[in-house]
Amino acid sequence: MTKYTFYGGAGEIGGNKILLEDKDAKVYLDFGQSFDFGSDYFYEYLEPRSVNGLECLFEFDLIPRVRKLYKSDSLRFTDLAYERPDVDAIFISHHHSDHVGHLEYIDEDIPVYMGHGTQKMIETYNQLYRGLVDIGAHNHLNTFKSGDAIELKNLVFRPVHVEHSTPGAYGYVIEKDDDRNIVFTGDFRRHGPKQEYTEEFITEAAKARPYCMLCEGTRMTPDPEKQYSEEQVYQKVKGIMQDSKGLVYGNFAMSNIDRFNSFYKACKENGRTFVIDTKMAYILDQLRERIPDLPDPCTDESIDVYYRLCKSGEFCEKDYYVYERKYMDNMITYRELKKDQKDYVIHSNFTKLMELVYTQPENADYIYSSSEHFLEGEDNEAMRTVLYNWLEHFRIKLHKAHCSGHASKSDIEYAIKKIKPEVLIPIHTENPKEFRKIHDNVMVPEKGGTIDV
Ligand SMILES: [Zn+2]
Ligand SMILES: [Zn+2]
Repeated sequence: MTKYTFYGGAGEIGGNKILLEDKDAKVYLDFGQSFDFGSDYFYEYLEPRSVNGLECLFEFDLIPRVRKLYKSDSLRFTDLAYERPDVDAIFISHHHSDHVGHLEYIDEDIPVYMGHGTQKMIETYNQLYRGLVDIGAHNHLNTFKSGDAIELKNLVFRPVHVEHSTPGAYGYVIEKDDDRNIVFTGDFRRHGPKQEYTEEFITEAAKARPYCMLCEGTRMTPDPEKQYSEEQVYQKVKGIMQDSKGLVYGNFAMSNIDRFNSFYKACKENGRTFVIDTKMAYILDQLRERIPDLPDPCTDESIDVYYRLCKSGEFCEKDYYVYERKYMDNMITYRELKKDQKDYVIHSNFTKLMELVYTQPENADYIYSSSEHFLEGEDNEAMRTVLYNWLEHFRIKLHKAHCSGHASKSDIEYAIKKIKPEVLIPIHTENPKEFRKIHDNVMVPEKGGTIDV
């Protein structure tokens, strides 16, 4: 018998925090923060102070009040006494905050396992944005690679890479001594350039003949949206670049390396140079250790690194952080961009709009290549209006080209039919009951509730 407690990831997209207990083994699958975390109580600068640890989060039930789990520092101002931890390990699927966001509160002595790619992403983001992915200090942070086996009491954890919208994402096949094996998908998709990773995961999961499968269902909506593949995004982006008579802006998440590659490839096809900022250059540089086919931002002929105007007004080395200086041989500034606009494509997120004032784009195109939510959701209305105002001011044409980081309904169905679990538990979804259309034995978890299988 395995007991699952869903402290997060049940009936919601993200926030995975699933306690798995089997015989005397006690582990967590992910320890993330929900996307709507604290939105009922916090607003802009009205936010919990880190010195207070978990006090404020307990007050509003924003994190489970569980004994023997949190570090003493986090409990200092709470009424929960510190006790030695009784958790054997925490297994992480990937670096997104809805999977690692609350690791910072965990007792330092609890072993944490994550893929080497996950660890690299966290390290790189922390170097660039201090505290953005704060996972806290851990005395036993273990990294693995796909195909490794981690033995823990009566369980063996076999992480296998999956394709997602970021590198370093894994699912787990968990073997048990009673053969009632478990599959945990993490977040996955199979419509991008690394779909063979997901295929490999599905094959390994099926081989284990699992009894129970915890499957993500971000896109398990009653009305499935149209499926776009990364290849289609690439084709669309390439076409827009071809037709454009000016500078092309590309807005996409820096951790989405598949999207970077689509833009990079499309630039090369169109004889345009891809202009990235020093942060994106640093990310590529760091990831090249793990993903050797990524271009070198220091030398690649199709890449220029953008330097914004700083204090000296002369683009001097001392104007920039030490990590940024490495790419100065490949430097481009607004001056060159302004002069030969049709020769370039520039990666530009919302906060980079200010550069438009210096570049003065003419006949430009803007490709929005991130989650549709920003262009549609109610909560982003103010930011969206600002974006539209900028585009209108500079007479820039807006295009959309995006595909999801999550499997479509039909791809989820494909995975389940191949893996053939006896019991299916939908996680990371707002529509768990949709799974009943594709499996006969679905157990729907509730937040805070338990399931014995
Ligand atoms: Zn997620
Ligand atoms: Zn994710």
